Amino acid sequence: MSKTDIAALYENVKPKLYDSQQKELEEKFKSTDNVAEILDLCNKLLKNPEVPNAEYATCPAFTPAHKSLMCKTLSSTPGLFEKLKNAGPTAKGFTISRAIQTGVMTPHLGVGCTAGDEESWEKYKELYYPVIKGWHGFDPATQSHKSDLDPTKLVQSAEQTELFNKYVASTRVRAARNVSGYSLPAGTNDEDREKVCQLLTAAFANFEGDLAGTFYPLGTLTDAQKDMLLNNGYLFQIPKTTNLLWHAGAARSWPKSRGIFHNANHTALCWVNEEDHCRIISMAKGGNIKDVFDRFCRISAALAKSAEANGTKLMYSEKLGYLGTCPSNLGTGLRASVMVKLTKFNETEHSRKVLEKVCDKFDLQPRGSAGEHSAAVEDKFDVSNKQRIGFTEVQLVQKMIDGCTKVIQYEEALAKGTTTIAQVEAEVSV
Ligand code: ADP
Ligand code: MG
Repeated sequence: MSKTDIAALYENVKPKLYDSQQKELEEKFKSTDNVAEILDLCNKLLKNPEVPNAEYATCPAFTPAHKSLMCKTLSSTPGLFEKLKNAGPTAKGFTISRAIQTGVMTPHLGVGCTAGDEESWEKYKELYYPVIKGWHGFDPATQSHKSDLDPTKLVQSAEQTELFNKYVASTRVRAARNVSGYSLPAGTNDEDREKVCQLLTAAFANFEGDLAGTFYPLGTLTDAQKDMLLNNGYLFQIPKTTNLLWHAGAARSWPKSRGIFHNANHTALCWVNEEDHCRIISMAKGGNIKDVFDRFCRISAALAKSAEANGTKLMYSEKLGYLGTCPSNLGTGLRASVMVKLTKFNETEHSRKVLEKVCDKFDLQPRGSAGEHSAAVEDKFDVSNKQRIGFTEVQLVQKMIDGCTKVIQYEEALAKGTTTIAQVEAEVSV
């Protein structure tokens, strides 16, 4: 590789590097003809997990590749960046530059901003509120959010239970919970992160009955253990430079103070210090959503109780509901999903598109078997509620039960030949 090739490579790499890193590389480029040395530095900088805190002097120049709602909001509101910059950092030191850093560095993101602590949600709301409105169709300027964690209110008829038992391989409910008084992962430091980890592990130690289990620090898991957890969908993915977490600064000091708690049969799981302080997950084989939601509510209550016993509480705002790192997960932060076998809907590219339309009609979102943008292995789709805020937890799970019932009924009718994909498409398009 010649120095000219390297120069071309550099043009590609440059947008991924911070100003200081670009300078470092340019210096190296000027000072040596040793191509291997230049490439080494290039690789090192690209892999650099210690993302520096951005400090933009003025609103960053966005390119056509920048698609996020953050970018749209700042671009369409002249002076907003400067105003929020002049508002200064939060008490915990989080700034508007850090809030938008991930969206500046990773243009393809849809949201493009994160919160670093509880105070940021109020301090930088002129950025967050339009982003929330754009993402959720919920306007925090005029609307308020309500929570309802009473599992006895769910209704699943005998007919629905029968359909779920037949078609649903497994059920999962997850949400984020963060502890008030500590920086969120995107704004934290080693000390705060470790304190959160200690608070949570103390809480897990008090989980009783079917919830009782063990906390495994990420750094102590063997590769085989990690693979087992990942392959079963129990563990979070290791952050990559292209996801929101990375340039938000939330992957710093990985895997320090991260870990996973689970009970013996993996039906109650908690992720620690990944995107949020805690992601609580209740999952089980089969389609007993009432049971899974009941356990989810008990995990949430146990964490709230433990936070209070420690003189703090879970982050919650009357307006925005449960607060966390990403604007896409406010409100309930809840995603209730079933892994459902839809052989007919998985037959062609077109039938999969029709499935998307059916889901959309009932405010549901289909994903592949291994999360967003993955394929449906063995015809299994992950179908979940699409909304997170403006509806209570009970309402969202109920919508998932009722909407999935419709999806399964269409699948049955397709299998029996009493309807066609074209007919289904026509029905949901009106
Ligand atoms: P989330 O953002 O809710 O964590 P992801 O799409 O990132 O969801 O998926 C996380 C993991 O959870 C994936 O491995 C996915 O296959 C698994 N998963 C999601 N829903 C279910 C379900 N109902 N049953 C079993 N596994 C599930
Ligand atoms: Mg995810």
